[in-house]
Amino acid sequence: RSGFVSIIGRPNVGKSTLLNRILGQKIAITTDKPQTTRNRILGIHNLPTGQILFLDTPGIHRGKGKLNRYMVDQAISACSDVDAILFLVEATDRVGGGDDFILEILGKGQVPVVLVINKIDLVPKPELLALIDSYSQRFSFHAIIPASGLTGNGVERVLDTILPML
Ligand code: GDP
Ligand code: MG
Repeated sequence: RSGFVSIIGRPNVGKSTLLNRILGQKIAITTDKPQTTRNRILGIHNLPTGQILFLDTPGIHRGKGKLNRYMVDQAISACSDVDAILFLVEATDRVGGGDDFILEILGKGQVPVVLVINKIDLVPKPELLALIDSYSQRFSFHAIIPASGLTGNGVERVLDTILPML
């Protein structure tokens, strides 16, 4: 199997970190400053059973100005022509706000969306379970996977989930 997967989500949720963790090498740029990823960076992950090609995208967020609009357009186009979308959110964030804006866009497309609740190293389990529950009521995700790009927790499950979708 082989196919394309785009990684989307608000700035700073950990997209580049997760991609680097999956690829096992530093390719995407990670930083505390939002929006350093201005181009779609392609990474290839080889598995015995297949190959996954990743697109790292700029964060989608509401905003004005040329650059903002350009980056949102880039992110949206990265979402329409792939086999699966990894939508990253932070376990420390509340549901809603900027994420609703993204889900609205994703809901218009045909591509299955895997929700990755990232940075689970930062929250207690009951909080995480409540978050999973409220996300599952909000959107028809292909799967919801708690993970931490930093510790590597859940990353294997992300790959196991994606592969059959390609
Ligand atoms: P991006 O803007 O979505 O690409 O986010 P980055 O990958 O650049 O990460 C933004 C910040 O969050 C960096 O300081 C990362 O070290 C941190 N970060 C990323 N993943 C995790 C995680 O799983 N746990 C924790 N605690 N921090 C993380
Ligand atoms: Mg990034």
